[in-house]
Amino acid sequence: MTGTITCLNCGNAFTGNYCSNCGEKVLHDHDKTIAHFLEDGVHFITHFEGKFFTTLKTIFRWPGKLSVDYCRGVRQPYFKPLSFFLMIVILYLLFPRFQGLNMTLAGHMGQGPTYGAYATAKVEQYLQHHPGTTIQQLAEKFAKKSEKTSKILLFIIIPFTALPLWLMAFKRRKYYYEHLVLSTEINAFFLLFGFLIFPLILAGWDMLGRWLKVPNHQLADMWLGIVAYTTFAIFTATALKRFYQYKWKYNLAILLVMLAIHILIIYFVYKFILFITIFALL
Ligand SMILES: [Zn+2]
Repeated sequence: MTGTITCLNCGNAFTGNYCSNCGEKVLHDHDKTIAHFLEDGVHFITHFEGKFFTTLKTIFRWPGKLSVDYCRGVRQPYFKPLSFFLMIVILYLLFPRFQGLNMTLAGHMGQGPTYGAYATAKVEQYLQHHPGTTIQQLAEKFAKKSEKTSKILLFIIIPFTALPLWLMAFKRRKYYYEHLVLSTEINAFFLLFGFLIFPLILAGWDMLGRWLKVPNHQLADMWLGIVAYTTFAIFTATALKRFYQYKWKYNLAILLVMLAIHILIIYFVYKFILFITIFALL
């Protein structure tokens, strides 16, 4: 029989194996074996890996479930959504081959109706103030800064995506926080699938085609875009349905508005902020 224990870490009195206040574990003699010492070291890695793959599997198999569980208080089996998003960004940073949403200086200047003219004016202004610099040199400097910044800046798409979700569904979920959680899950899938998994599948396809010497094995860009976006739409529809539990018709309406706004966020809001940020860093 174990009676009341005083926690060695925080002084709280409790019963059981873990402190009810701070979570400190009660040490027994069998915790002090060499085997246990080694086990403790490996535990961190296996624990980390287990949670990572559970989170990954949940997102892909049951879109929206991670957010539902996280908001109602089932958190132990998973990575925190924002930590999961951070992991994806780190994966991105580790593999510079994945371009993701990075864009060249010329790309920004070519952003037709939105901020293209603004970007062009900024570039001209910069060249006037730095008479020794050519536009090619500026473009190179810009690309160097953009490679990492474009990835770290991906975090800003989360609050922007949560905004329309909150506006359209504020009656279903009380806290902005909850829409932020769902937004994190949706954007984690968006990045993971659209900018890591899908490009990998395409690269594999390309290698296979070249290896088998199939003529014209390359797929048309337009169709790739349609496939990638349809997958994202199906994911988002399922996640919205599970999270807000709207009837299908209303769910579809929310989906369409949400996708339209998401495109605006990714291709204009994010890229514009990226452009200003890099220019400020130059
Ligand atoms: Zn304690």
